[in-house]
Amino acid sequence: MYYLARIHEMTASDRLQKRLTKIVCTLGPACFSPDQLEGLVKSGMNVARLNLTHASAKKQLPIVHLVKEIRSKHPIGVGILLDVRCAQVRTGVVEKPIMIAKGQEVCFGVEKLRKESEKHAFVNVDYPAFGKDVRKAEILLLDNGEMSFDIVSISKSGLVKAKARQDGTIGSRRHVNMPGADISLPTFTDADWEDIETAAEEGVDFLAISFIRTGKDIADVQAFLRKKKSPIRVMAKIETRQAVANFKDILRESDAIMVARGDLGAELPFEQVPVIQDEIVAQCRAAGKPVVVATHMLESMIEHPLPTRAEVTDVAHAATIRTDTTMLSGETASGRHPLVAVDAMDRILRATEQHLREVDGQDMPAVTSDVEARAQSAVLLARSVGASAIVVMTKSGKSAEAISKFRPMIPIIAITDDETIWSQLSLHYGVSSLLCSFKGELEDSVIRGMKEAVGAGLLGEGDEVVLVTGTEITGGSVISIQAREVR
Ligand code: PGA
Repeated sequence: MYYLARIHEMTASDRLQKRLTKIVCTLGPACFSPDQLEGLVKSGMNVARLNLTHASAKKQLPIVHLVKEIRSKHPIGVGILLDVRCAQVRTGVVEKPIMIAKGQEVCFGVEKLRKESEKHAFVNVDYPAFGKDVRKAEILLLDNGEMSFDIVSISKSGLVKAKARQDGTIGSRRHVNMPGADISLPTFTDADWEDIETAAEEGVDFLAISFIRTGKDIADVQAFLRKKKSPIRVMAKIETRQAVANFKDILRESDAIMVARGDLGAELPFEQVPVIQDEIVAQCRAAGKPVVVATHMLESMIEHPLPTRAEVTDVAHAATIRTDTTMLSGETASGRHPLVAVDAMDRILRATEQHLREVDGQDMPAVTSDVEARAQSAVLLARSVGASAIVVMTKSGKSAEAISKFRPMIPIIAITDDETIWSQLSLHYGVSSLLCSFKGELEDSVIRGMKEAVGAGLLGEGDEVVLVTGTEITGGSVISIQAREVR
């Protein structure tokens, strides 16, 4: 009842409340122009994602450069995420789409088995061990389940005969899921390593790694980046059965996690996705690592200017479980209303956040380090003095990340002099990062940072804030947590 009464009182001023949950927008032809990208930043995009499934990192560098140019004109950090394709089973290239009727038997296999398919329609699968690995699956799914086939038989040579469950067409290079089967492909192709190398040389903020199965997959990328002395953060996409089973190991090796619900709901029965999603978000929050809930969040907005109410509720649910970030895919990459979709997501997240309670008692994550102990104290102090923001001076970003772990319901304004940290903090719940030089006395930097925050519209004169600073002294450092008024 309280909520209902409160909702009736919602006024325009509620629109001004800062959003805490972040938004990743996937870029694509619908938003590649400078004006469209600028529009996305203004509408609330925190992180720009480029999917390397469609073109290599090298080919997409011009767009990375454009995003870098646009973000440099805005005070609050915007991140760049490259999504690495990795080993995926795909169908081959066809001249024109193959029409399939419900109940029709279709043969799937490597090209050399085409003859064996005789009178049946033949779909080439670009993966030599297909006939062997598929044996544990009972169905085949194309494009996350857009089309599904019941497996009827598998010949000795590995030709798979399967019956279509519905009418449809199969175009070129469609993604194949084999629920229940363990794919024996190595996780990374040469092209993936080239993409990772390009990302390291170019300097982006995050690499999302697709179809990983074990913690070692992520550890391999981390080792490669360490060798290259790259500060890129590695995000594991959880979208295979094995990744769910090995989640603890994967989380330990990763800097961030994405719940890639599209493939996850094809690799596992889709009804399991909501529970897995919430469990992954809970574990990431406990570990203090950022987590993205992705795919189909406002899918109908690819075509329509209004989301379905079920989609609205899905985005709101992600805010309720306090995920760090929600993601738009086709909605912004190829949809008809990219800016309207970002605006819708922004509105839903803010409207929901206004009704969340402070994280308390049993829900408070465990403190695992000194930095986290101080972060928690800052959050509790901010709550008791009714501060409107927590301002944190941070070189490495760690103090800001630790404060974010405790999910204060007010903005965390992270002031840093490191450009990489500035853009990498874009992924963390509640954090707005500002770039500011740390020259001279600490107090001078604090005053410069606060001015910057007022200029960015994050603070107003007279606001009460909690300020967290660290000062290097001989033999160590002093951390202070103070309540201050913005002047
Ligand atoms: P994709 O990953 O956009 O690379 O397909 C997301 C998902 O599978 O949900």
